[in-house]
Amino acid sequence: MIEEEIYHAEIFRDRISSVTASGKRNWIYAFKPSGKFYTYRNVVSYMYLLVFFVMPFIKIKGNPLFLINVIDSKFILFGKIFWPQDFFIFALGMISFIIFIVLFTIIYGRLFCGWTCPQTVFLEFVFRKIEWWIEGSASRQKALHDGPWTLEKVWKKTLKHVLFLAISFLIAHTFLAYIIGKDEIIKIIREPLSQHTGLLVGLIAFTLLFYGVFAFVREIVCTTICPYGRLQGVMFDKDTMQISYDYKRGEERGRFKKNEERTKGDCIDCKKCVVVCPTGIDIRDGVQMDCVGCTACMDACDEVMDKIGFKTGLIRYASENQIAHGTHFKFNTRMKAYSGLLAVLMMAMSFMIITRNTIDTYISRVKGQLYQEVGENKLSNLFDAKIINKTNEDIPVELKVEGLDGTIRLVGAQQFLLKKEAVNEFTFFLDLPKSALHLRSNKIVIGVYSGGKKIQTVKTNFLGPFM
Ligand code: SF4
Ligand code: SF4
Repeated sequence: MIEEEIYHAEIFRDRISSVTASGKRNWIYAFKPSGKFYTYRNVVSYMYLLVFFVMPFIKIKGNPLFLINVIDSKFILFGKIFWPQDFFIFALGMISFIIFIVLFTIIYGRLFCGWTCPQTVFLEFVFRKIEWWIEGSASRQKALHDGPWTLEKVWKKTLKHVLFLAISFLIAHTFLAYIIGKDEIIKIIREPLSQHTGLLVGLIAFTLLFYGVFAFVREIVCTTICPYGRLQGVMFDKDTMQISYDYKRGEERGRFKKNEERTKGDCIDCKKCVVVCPTGIDIRDGVQMDCVGCTACMDACDEVMDKIGFKTGLIRYASENQIAHGTHFKFNTRMKAYSGLLAVLMMAMSFMIITRNTIDTYISRVKGQLYQEVGENKLSNLFDAKIINKTNEDIPVELKVEGLDGTIRLVGAQQFLLKKEAVNEFTFFLDLPKSALHLRSNKIVIGVYSGGKKIQTVKTNFLGPFM
């Protein structure tokens, strides 16, 4: 037994728990957790799933609440349309997001992974629950897997995989609804499939991807593939909160005997914390990259401690320093610096979003064109205008030269009518009195008005004669 423990202590960091010594897949049959944290996580997950499936159907003023349409470069956040021209807001948003993730991870470790990562939520609270429901407890699942192909095994495996595929299909639809919008998805469902071959291929590809991940790849996504998980090793420090085994209190571990005068530590070596772990690790080995912070071991150990009358919290949320020195949570200098930077970025981003124009106007003189005489007292220049309407409604606008008596004559259009969600292009002549022009290149300001209200001003140049 001691030799086995020494061997385990030496090798556990050398290979991941989902791979056997011979390099084969070590399928993890995790026991179903129960307890305070599992109940909280159930509540969080159901809310999460509700938000995930309902959000694509919510619209604000005709726009979806969220749309990340990378195909057409159209992004909608909280009902506001963002265009590639809003790149700065996006860039700032991405930087803020990365800093937020770093800061959050430094302080709270893998709290995100355990509670709100889509991989964990879907795997633990949808797919694994179906598996427990159809195939039974972890030991029954293993027996079924290792046993011969009986009728029971065939129908159980078939039912499980059919349900897995159906749910993956549903997730793929919802996922695509975030990219192309729910209206497009409904179109695919209602119209003949031959009209949407491309999207159908995408749907099938996503369905197979989700099915593969949740039915087969599973915890390997968290322990090997996910870049966030891999980066955590460099973000953690000794004050990072994580799920920790209190080795000071637990060691030396040893079996519990009723009515004994206990001389050993509080860990009774029941391994309940190991068998519930969905990544197959032993948290008593110390902090490990494979721990996704799911709290299952905390619940399992608390239940054991309650049963034998010991204080709960042998495995709990605590930093390395807290366990080693009994210190309290410390908001260290690095955390303060990141928080300050994050606050500045969030303020800058909020300012840019609030002050962002829903209409963007670009006006420039048509290249290669000189001025023209209009009557005795006026000169005219030809201009191109590109006006981006980021809203989802057509808007009639009016252009006026600010501070000068100018006349705008549209070429080939009756009025400046901005089509919704489009780049609207116009060509127009601008006539100005000669008396207002004193230079070869005269700076002018054009106001864009909607409903009599100025919504934007644009600077440009008006070409006059050599003085
Ligand atoms: S060690 Fe505990 S918290 Fe970490 S993954 Fe395993 S059961 Fe979850
Ligand atoms: S559940 Fe608690 S008592 Fe049992 S082995 Fe794990 S840490 Fe020790």
